[in-house]
Amino acid sequence: MSQIIKTKAFVLSKLDFGDTSKIANFYTEDLGRISGIIKGARSPKSKIGKTVDLLNYVDLVLYKKEGRDIQIITQADLIEYYPNIKSDLEKLKYASAVIELLLRLTVENDQHRRLFIGVEKILQRMEDETTQPILLFSMFIKFFLEEIGYGLETDKCSLCQKSLLNSGNVSYNHEHGLMCKSCSENHLVLFEFSMELFNKMVCLSQRNSKCSYKENELIEIITFFERVLIYHIDEFQGIKSLKIY
Ligand SMILES: [Zn+2]
Repeated sequence: MSQIIKTKAFVLSKLDFGDTSKIANFYTEDLGRISGIIKGARSPKSKIGKTVDLLNYVDLVLYKKEGRDIQIITQADLIEYYPNIKSDLEKLKYASAVIELLLRLTVENDQHRRLFIGVEKILQRMEDETTQPILLFSMFIKFFLEEIGYGLETDKCSLCQKSLLNSGNVSYNHEHGLMCKSCSENHLVLFEFSMELFNKMVCLSQRNSKCSYKENELIEIITFFERVLIYHIDEFQGIKSLKIY
């Protein structure tokens, strides 16, 4: 049975299909990540073909059929096209990284409303604010790991349960997660945070945080989260968007 569904969506990718159509990937509010075909989208007269473009935020209408991999998109209306992001290379780099995480690391047909709202917020902040895009992305990637189940326990050492906040340097390996200084002496260490960097990493999740960051600290934090993802997810080898720009 097929159903008509109206849902908000971010356009993650788009490619030509046959002589006249396009197939796009969307991250939707109600269905999670889906693929959809837009018939006739390659015609210059197709309004929907133009609306469904990379990094646009749209209202979609689609025919959804259980068991079908590609849904049929019948209507798309623009909510936001993020002109400031698209005209600023630094903003575009980090917004593309957000889109890439959704495209490559979310499960198809898995509704995840908190993640959807998080994406909506971070893209709007990149669009509207002068806050460094790399800082907004650092906040997003930490949130993203937590939402897809790879969040880290940052309150206490995974081995002795002591608080990590005043433990001296904090170490990490994939097997145990975050460890205090004394526990780390007997274990393999893949990544070591200075106390200052560790506190700043934790601070990324705090609303109205007063932490300030240097660019190289944020690069270090992003690289750390990227390594956690690479370890847990087989086909994933890092965020390409961060290397292209
Ligand atoms: Zn410990």
